[in-house]
This record gives sequence, C-alpha cells and structure tokens, in this order.
Amino acid sequence: MSRIAQRNLSKSNAQFQRAVKRLPLGVSSTFRYWGDDRTIYVHHGKGGRTWDIDGNCYVDYRLGYGPAILGYADERVDAAARKGMEVGGVFALSTEKELAVADRIASMVPAAELVRFSNSGTEAVMAALRLARAHTGRESYLLVEGGYHGLFDAAMWMSNMDEWDLGSNTDPELVPYGKGIPQTVKKLAHITPMNDFQRLEDIFSKHGDKLAAMLIEPIQGNCCSIMAQPEYVKLARELCTKYGVMLIIDEVKSGFRVGKGGIQGIMGVTPDITTFAKAVANGYPISVVAGREEVMRTFRYGGASHGGTYTAHSVSLAAAEETLRILDETPALETLAAYGERLKAGISKILDARKIVHSYTGHPSMFGLFFAETPPDNYRDWKTSDYSFYDRMAYHLHDLGVICEPDSREPWFMCEAHGLDETCLSDTLKAVETAVDLTLEHFEEDAKRA
Ligand code: PMP
Repeated sequence: MSRIAQRNLSKSNAQFQRAVKRLPLGVSSTFRYWGDDRTIYVHHGKGGRTWDIDGNCYVDYRLGYGPAILGYADERVDAAARKGMEVGGVFALSTEKELAVADRIASMVPAAELVRFSNSGTEAVMAALRLARAHTGRESYLLVEGGYHGLFDAAMWMSNMDEWDLGSNTDPELVPYGKGIPQTVKKLAHITPMNDFQRLEDIFSKHGDKLAAMLIEPIQGNCCSIMAQPEYVKLARELCTKYGVMLIIDEVKSGFRVGKGGIQGIMGVTPDITTFAKAVANGYPISVVAGREEVMRTFRYGGASHGGTYTAHSVSLAAAEETLRILDETPALETLAAYGERLKAGISKILDARKIVHSYTGHPSMFGLFFAETPPDNYRDWKTSDYSFYDRMAYHLHDLGVICEPDSREPWFMCEAHGLDETCLSDTLKAVETAVDLTLEHFEEDAKRA
C-alpha cells in the first residue's frame, strides 16, 4: 500500500480526540464514525464535492445518504431558504406555503392525495405505521428483508444476514438493530425475503387478517439498491387490498430521485400510504407522509395523533418548494441519472480491463456495485457477492478523494451538480482505477501470505 500517500487527516484526527470526550464516538450518528484515525470532519460541501477540515477534497457519492439531490449549498435552494428564515421559523400554527408544497407533491405523486409534513424519515414512517394501525385497528406489520425504515422501535428489526449460513435451509434470524429495542415489539413484526412470490402469498394467507401494514422499499436504499420486481410489488398491492392491509411504500431515499413520481410511478403501483424525506428539500430537514384521502383523514382529533413542534418549519418548507420546483420543471433528474450511467460505464471499463466480474443494481441515480456476475435479487443473494473486495476498494477510494459508503450495502448517490461538473467524473474514474489496482495488490499479498 506504500505507493499511495495517505491523506493527511491530522486535523480530523485531533478533532476526533477532542470530540470523543464530549460526543459518543466523537460524532452525532454512529455511522459517521469510521475509526479513530479515519473519522473525517467536514469543513464544507459545494456541488458534488465535500472538503474536510484538513483541506482534502472528495467527490461525494454519499451526499448525506441522499438528500443533496441538486448538490451541496445549491444557490437556488439556499436563497429560498433564506427567505423562509424571514418568515420566523415555527409558530405552532400553519402557513400558506404548506398547501403550495402539498399541491406540488400531489401533482408529482398521484398516491399523495393528502399530505402531512414531518421532520425526518423516521418520523414520517412512524406516522405512516401509526396511521395504518389506526385505520385498520390492527397492530402487526410485515417488513421485507433488506429494508430500513428508520430508528423507531417497530422498524428496528432485521434479518441477521451476517450470521446467516448461505447454504442452510433455515431463514435468517429476526434480530433487533442493536440493544435497547424491547423484545415485546418483535411479536408484532413479520419479515419476508424480497421477490419471493410464494412466501409473500403464504405469509398473507397465514397472517393477512392481522396485519395493519406491509412496509416496502421497492428499491432498497439501505441494501445495495436491490430492486423489487414490479410484479412483486403488484402482488403486494393485490394481497394488501384483498386482506385490508395498508401498503406503505417507503420512498424516503428513492422519492424525488429515481423519477418525479418515485419508484411507485415507475412501477405503476399505488400505495395506500407513502413516505418521502431525503431529496424533498435538498438537505433541509423535512419529510412527508402522504396517501389516500380516506386513510389520511384518520389524522384527526380522536383518530391517529400526528404533529411535532418543528413540523413545516418555514425554512424547510421554502427549501422544499424550490427543490421540488426544480425537480419538477427542469431536467435535473435526467442530468443526474445520465451522470450515473456514465459513471457506471466508466467503472465497468476499468473493471472489465482487469477481468473483474461485476454488476450493478438499482437506478442510475442510486446504484449498487457488486462483485458478482448477476446482481442480487434480494438481501440473501448479497452474500454471494465478493463484498470484501468492495469494502477494501472503498477504503482506498476515501484516501484517493472519493467518498462512498465503506459498506457495500449502501448505494452510490448522484446529484445534479455531479452531472454539471465534468471534473467529477474524470477525478472519480482516476481514483477508481488506482483503488481497484491497490485492492488487487492487497488480495494478492494476502493470498501469498496464506
Ligand atoms: N426510510 C428509509 C427508506 C430510509 O432510507 C431512512 C434513512 N436512511 C429512513 C426511513 C429514516 O430516515 P431518517 O434517517 O431521516 O430518520
């Protein structure tokens, strides 16, 4: 590894040493901790790039896990947000802009007949599940393996794929994401592998009349962008209708990114309830729970509770209005998807030249890169790919000025600014070529030692 100079992270490392005395792991979200000597602290972001406090510049494909759909510090959105500041923040009262933004959402997403705002993805999905429970009078719910729906207890259950034996006939164990999640919640949660049509039918015939909701990310934004087959989502729709279950399509990551009407628009499936967050306001905190009028009217006195001190904050609303206008009225989404296609083609050229088998999942605006011949169809298949190659490559990419998630289960996110700055592509591909060679060297050295 010696032929590449490591980044200078001395300021970030010093900051970490100070921060860890006051902030657990030195950060405000556990996933931002990348090791005592590799946790970076941001100075600022602009367009498709981020600069750390040591002055290292990165082409950024995490984009805060998706929000910066146009790019960091977008001048159009920030100007609108500044105007929103003059309004005064929050009042525990409503403003006219709520309707303007809700109208825009309804015109872009047919399922969004009625709209409520929240602050984060977690809050929106939590509200969606509560709404489903209130509307159906049922409590249990169905999750899909590889999906992620936020930090509230009901959503914090996953199939333990790390411990699962690929060759076994058993299902992976349903486990909580870490400690502090009450076991009692587990009784209400069911989980099924994506794209397994028979299992879905079986689970509905066994439990359908007790389910309040089925939650699905048809493009798994937290699991390599693995995609549901449209027919699978259509089957989910049919079964939900048959058994009186609310279909919740969680588009916190895919919404206003893969298309104006989200993945539900592309697949032609109408959920009862849907959620959006990340791309809605280019990074300003706002989220959306929306859906069928009859269901949404359950938000009322004596019905399902919904609210929050900071909902529909004037800054976030103003930013949302401008971001959605841009996404709706300009070719921004085409620009960033075309960039994603060019990036994939460039990466493939590098990998093909080295005969490295690979494939992609998802949508060009948020794609997963796999070291396997065919992309996974569900989370269990991810085990068949060489994710250790990915993880090593990601490590080198950070040193070489490209930020992607260190874990292969997080897709790469594109923004409009990537597509408008030619150097993003050339800088990225130069780094990918070197990172791939370093990774190959690393595995060759390991093989020799073995
Ligand atoms: N749903 C999905 C599909 C998500 O990707 C996320 C966050 N990654 C959430 C819900 C939770 O959103 P937040 O982090 O804003 O609470």
